Amino acid sequence: MKKHNFGAGPGILPESALEKSAAAVLDFNGIGMSLLEISHRSKDFDAVMVKAKSLVKELLGVPDNYSILFLQGGASTQFAMVPMNLMKSKAAYVESGVWANKAIKEANLFGEAKVIATSKDKNFNYVPKGYTIPNDCDYLHVTSNNTIYGTQMKSFPESPIPMICDMSSDIFSRPIDVSKFDLIYAGAQKNMGPAGVTLVIIKNDILGKTGRPMPTMLKYETHIEGDSLYNTPPVFPIYVCMETLVWLKSIGGVAAIEKTNQAKADMFYAEVDSNPLFVGTCEKEDRSNMNACFLLKNPEMEEEFLKMAKDAGIIGLKGHRSVGGFRASMYNALPIESVKVLTQMMNDFALKKA
Ligand SMILES: *Cc1c(COP(=O)(O)O)cnc(C)c1O
Repeated sequence: MKKHNFGAGPGILPESALEKSAAAVLDFNGIGMSLLEISHRSKDFDAVMVKAKSLVKELLGVPDNYSILFLQGGASTQFAMVPMNLMKSKAAYVESGVWANKAIKEANLFGEAKVIATSKDKNFNYVPKGYTIPNDCDYLHVTSNNTIYGTQMKSFPESPIPMICDMSSDIFSRPIDVSKFDLIYAGAQKNMGPAGVTLVIIKNDILGKTGRPMPTMLKYETHIEGDSLYNTPPVFPIYVCMETLVWLKSIGGVAAIEKTNQAKADMFYAEVDSNPLFVGTCEKEDRSNMNACFLLKNPEMEEEFLKMAKDAGIIGLKGHRSVGGFRASMYNALPIESVKVLTQMMNDFALKKA
């Protein structure tokens, strides 16, 4: 039986995308070869790349003066590529969690990463707001959704300098105005596909300003000029992303999925707030619709709760070690029925303990 998969990443994928990807591995387009056995420069794979890019463009409304890239190395490589390609001397960073922290560490290798706001004082249980963005920095870096701590930016600042965003864990979960950003990156494995590919959406005119020599593979221009085919791209992850986006389009795109995601989050947080045994870990206004962190007021019950979850076919609830407790990740492909099963179980657990 299919599990109720609340794992934080790699996350749940739509069934149709898994089925089509499995079939393409065995015989791609009826050509008598696997998707994994053909040239990345063949006409059949070219069609996959073209379709994947056009779906990204259509679903997110990416303007024409941006490039859409499928790169390797995960979001973690973007932590370094962003400053290497864009930072002349200093950049502004919002420190909203562990991932932002790692981005800051890499940026400090190329200049000064100025932390202009942080929520470290409360173990990152809120999103910093009301900060001033310095005009003399090369860019501002923010993280839209803090996967580990369960907070999410509900709006983005008006930035006087180029804005860069790590959207790894909430890309395609809601409409965004891409034109507000100069670069968006996202490891695919949370909300758009499997591990092994990273989506980068980049405004073409921000490049070429640092004068810094860079390794060919780490230069955005290389991949823009090569149309993500400078070297062999991760063909299978790109294919699965393409099928995941086909699914997303078929159910109404980001505006429709945002409504479903909101309904799932509302249902879940309503249970956390009304159940006497549980408590949410984050400021209510900043609670993520993707990753919900919560605790049992009595940690001694944790094992029993996880056992009950397992018996109900619910997996992936254990919280990240830096927060403890539990985390329910509710990515696009998680059906609302799974959230119903979880909230019902939390309710049953409270009755049992009453
Ligand atoms: C998972 C995650 C990352 C790291 O992604 P990798 O692809 O594993 O390098 C970075 N940022 C955020 C917000 C994430 O959720």
